[in-house]
Amino acid sequence: DTAIMYITHNLGVVARVCNRVGVMYAGEMVERATVEEIFATPQHPYTQGLIRCVPRLGATKLESVLYPIRGRVPPPDKRPVGCVFAPRCDYARDRCLEEHPDLRPLNGIMVRCHYAEEIDPQAWTPPEEVAPPPVATADRQAEPILELNGLRKYYRVVGNSLRDVLGLGEPKYVKAVEGATFSVPKGATLGIVGESGCGKSTLVKTIIGLEASTSGEARFLGVDITQDLSHRSEEIIRELQMVFQNPDSTMNPSYTVGQQIARPMQRFKTVPKERIRQEVIKLLEAVRLSANYYDRLPRQLSGGEKQRVGIARALASYPDLILCDEPVSALDVSVQAAVLNLLLEIQQKYGTTMLFIAHDLSVVRFFSDYVAVMYLGQIMEIGPSEAIYAPPYHPYTEALLSAVPIPDPKARQKHIRLAGTVPSAINPPPGCRFHTRCPRRQLLPDGGQICETEEPPWRQVTEEHRIFCHLPLETLRSFEPVITPSVEA
Ligand code: SF4
Ligand code: SF4
Repeated sequence: DTAIMYITHNLGVVARVCNRVGVMYAGEMVERATVEEIFATPQHPYTQGLIRCVPRLGATKLESVLYPIRGRVPPPDKRPVGCVFAPRCDYARDRCLEEHPDLRPLNGIMVRCHYAEEIDPQAWTPPEEVAPPPVATADRQAEPILELNGLRKYYRVVGNSLRDVLGLGEPKYVKAVEGATFSVPKGATLGIVGESGCGKSTLVKTIIGLEASTSGEARFLGVDITQDLSHRSEEIIRELQMVFQNPDSTMNPSYTVGQQIARPMQRFKTVPKERIRQEVIKLLEAVRLSANYYDRLPRQLSGGEKQRVGIARALASYPDLILCDEPVSALDVSVQAAVLNLLLEIQQKYGTTMLFIAHDLSVVRFFSDYVAVMYLGQIMEIGPSEAIYAPPYHPYTEALLSAVPIPDPKARQKHIRLAGTVPSAINPPPGCRFHTRCPRRQLLPDGGQICETEEPPWRQVTEEHRIFCHLPLETLRSFEPVITPSVEA
């Protein structure tokens, strides 16, 4: 009978675990209601705005748009005297600027807004500043820009025993990436998903050149990129850039924003010296930061602004491929929506190809043209994103989808609890790496014994969609969908 107070900015988690919800803005409770009411009939303009920021699972960038809430949360010493949300509210009137609203009952919920009963969220039209650009379908027939074939990345581990220290012991390796094979067409986005430690970040680091690969092939623009940065040409380094989860770790705290963005232009000589300032300002505007930010230091920026600077810096050499490692995971939903829209806009404008890592499967589905699912260093399934989110699934994809927090409390979702924990990558299970936890292997005629000893075959569902599993395709096709969205969603 324990009551739990759960604080989060993840609306999917709210929908999954909460009964009642309090929505806070700038230090105040602005709405309080049941979880069903919050998602079906939000009354406060801020709650309505939050819900417009998150992609529903199954929604794609082609058929739905995210609308960030314009403006920023005011700092504690600069809160408006009237309604704290007024500077960002599309319904604000004179009274809102002068009179602070009370939290009051309305149709069984509590809301802090003078005009809640008059506001119809269905009639809302986006202000020009938050309306995202239209997105075109990626050309799936385009030439591949990145091609991997059996790429491996192992790390040698030295044990503590005397034999190990003297180099006499059996060499041990963390098999972080095992035989990655895929290609990405120019201008498309490949999303990579999997639990922590599945190897997705190592894969990206190997492609960007922070690590050399152990074996296998990797070609970018037709050029071999299996070696690390020290062996790559300036041209290849320029065309391959990265956006990190934590932009702080890659920013020099004593360099201004302008200097951070100008560095790649100076290094790669992509812009004549006298035009660098002008180009930096152009990029600042492209990431929706004004020229005023040029002389600011990183400590003067919010988390979302730093991420925008990180994106502007990745763009400064006008690369062909951007690797995004959890670029929105640490951001609030409104900033997340703004950053995703920005990346889409950049992709449309420059035809940039992207690799996109995120742990939120709704965001990956929304943003990606293709998705690869990784488990313990191995790609288990890869294909067009719409194919990954519906049967036939790999048993691991099925389990991952069953754990996605969906921002829809009425959606029906199967819950699959995987046994045990992810095994060590130093000594991964033989056969199928997922066999120690797979709830589906009993469906095989031998009860799944083959999974313990033999590496699975690739089951080709379509030309672009393949699944690494011993189960025959007919069996994989017979799985029920994990998620059934509510009718309103
Ligand atoms: S009180 Fe006014 S400014 Fe505040 S949320 Fe309501 S309509 Fe918007
Ligand atoms: S190969 Fe076997 S253990 Fe691996 S996912 Fe398929 S059924 Fe499960």
